[in-house]
Amino acid sequence: MSTFQELGLNEDLLNAITDLGFKTPSEVQEKAIPILLEEERDLVALAQTGTGKTAAFGFPMLQKIDITSRTTQGLILSPTRELCLQITNELKHYGKHCNGLNVVAIYGGASITEQARQVKRGAQIIVATPGRMKDMISRKLVDISKIQYSVLDEADEMLNMGFYEDITDILSHTPDDKSTWLFSATMPKEVSIIAKKFMYDPTEITVGNKNESTNQVSHEYYLVNARDRYQALKRLSDANPEIFSVVFCRTKRDTQKVAENLIEDGYNAGALHGDLSQNQRDLVMKSFRNRQIQTLVATDVAARGIDVDDITHVIHYQLPDEPEIYTHRSGRTGRAGKTGISMAIVSKSEVRRIKSIERIIKKQFEKKDIPSGTDIVEVQLMALANKIHKTETNHEIDKHLESINELFADTDKDELIKKFFSVEFNRFFNYYQKSKDLTVSDSRGSDRDSGGRDYEKQSNDTRYFINVGRKDGFDWMKLKDFLKEVLELGRDDVFKVDVKDSFSFFNTEKTLQEKVLAFFTDYKHDGRFVNVEVSENRGRSGGGRRDRGRGKDDRRSGGRGRRRDEKPRGDRRSRRSDNSENRGERRSRRSDDSKPRRSGSASDRPRRSRRK
Ligand code: ADP
Ligand code: MG
Repeated sequence: MSTFQELGLNEDLLNAITDLGFKTPSEVQEKAIPILLEEERDLVALAQTGTGKTAAFGFPMLQKIDITSRTTQGLILSPTRELCLQITNELKHYGKHCNGLNVVAIYGGASITEQARQVKRGAQIIVATPGRMKDMISRKLVDISKIQYSVLDEADEMLNMGFYEDITDILSHTPDDKSTWLFSATMPKEVSIIAKKFMYDPTEITVGNKNESTNQVSHEYYLVNARDRYQALKRLSDANPEIFSVVFCRTKRDTQKVAENLIEDGYNAGALHGDLSQNQRDLVMKSFRNRQIQTLVATDVAARGIDVDDITHVIHYQLPDEPEIYTHRSGRTGRAGKTGISMAIVSKSEVRRIKSIERIIKKQFEKKDIPSGTDIVEVQLMALANKIHKTETNHEIDKHLESINELFADTDKDELIKKFFSVEFNRFFNYYQKSKDLTVSDSRGSDRDSGGRDYEKQSNDTRYFINVGRKDGFDWMKLKDFLKEVLELGRDDVFKVDVKDSFSFFNTEKTLQEKVLAFFTDYKHDGRFVNVEVSENRGRSGGGRRDRGRGKDDRRSGGRGRRRDEKPRGDRRSRRSDNSENRGERRSRRSDDSKPRRSGSASDRPRRSRRK
């Protein structure tokens, strides 16, 4: 292992490195910095997030540019505004002893004239997102015709986000004899195309295996019934009192919902997705950075900018559509030499996807059981004990000690401890005492135990009744499109659509059931409530052994006739107020098991010890 000195960095930069507290170069820095300092050539570097890529290109660029000149000599393209600001910030730190250095960030959503003004003052380095950069070039607000170094940071992400044409366009305004340094976590075809097209005989360096996720991350999956996803998420969080996590959902709607539910249940959670304004997103990220938010629920797209160290867990509320995305998600933890855990909550129908992810990350998942209520109670109790143990004594209490002592004159120490803990703990204890086991047996292993078989017997589809039909202007195609659109589902997620005059039926995978039913709890179409319920048509959906509701028409289903064989399973409103254990799956969110254990006022609920 070499030192930063041995890599050939100059005094100013070495001083900054000492100030930053970097002791030894990371692998990508060790490999890239000497090459970039010594030679004028193109480079392709494959390294995961959190491996120190910014410094790997930042230091050489800072050392090689002419700071006495005000010409723009370096251009760094990065996928998001967040990353763009982060790189700019890092570079300013790295170059803090380089007098006269001016690094300017260019990104959308902020004043273009202000950015143009900053560039005009003489920016040796510009860090930009492709969209805004292209805009500035076409308005002639920047001149990149003399740059010597261009960096494509997180190239795979930029291409994922559809920036191919913007990048091509931007690079066409740069000189042919510049050096291009491409950094990427993965090497999909699109990235090699870029490398071939824009680079001349690049040196290739790889840190770890191509496409392999960071070594510091261990991968776990938890098999649950789809309807228990949210409960599982809560348990995984509760079993890790010090958790600082990002929870990934597939859609904006799920992201918002999960975050709202967590907040309602007393967690320090926040949502990050594309429907929020830039301002809202900035606020959420700020709270997350300073740990006011302990659990950040995010979509893949919105999370692209997240570059926060010390994330302890990445939780996949649902697996991503593309296995490659898994790599990006899990790369949010295990950064800067720390360890991290990536936990996937999967339903039976998703288990096979674990295999394809394993192939890509070249690592095995460990199958684990959702912690039981007892486990969690124990963990939380010990966390509380440790917290109390570490708490500094407040001596303001001294003056009241006498009267307090008087009150507890007859209570011995053990008893006192128990009482004291009960104050913080009862609500929590009561919540988990009633909880059931969420773990489902793995079909890859056996499906012979009764719990597993019960689940197995049901088909993987759910058939629904919906109270709209031809009279409402739907045919099967229109209904399918409508459902896909409002539910934000994929091309093949809705099937077996069967439209009748005044009502219809359709199927989805069982994993989507919770989402479908939750969405239609109070959805209006053309001023009328759209009612969706699980249909009891045995032929198609299986199951049907659950107790049947009274089957009376409720007003929301329009009082229209239903075919006998395809009757919705009971009146939803009556079911909702009924807490008996064997009622349908729609119990999940409002049932006892999910009742906010932290629903009390801020003072009486057990709060997590917040990290500073
Ligand atoms: P990447 O771009 O590969 O995702 P970053 O460049 O953002 O990674 O670096 C991740 C974190 O590691 C940052 O907080 C950075 O300051 C820190 N870091 C980078 N290099 C070193 C080093 N040699 N020693 C210690 N910390 C480092
Ligand atoms: Mg980076």
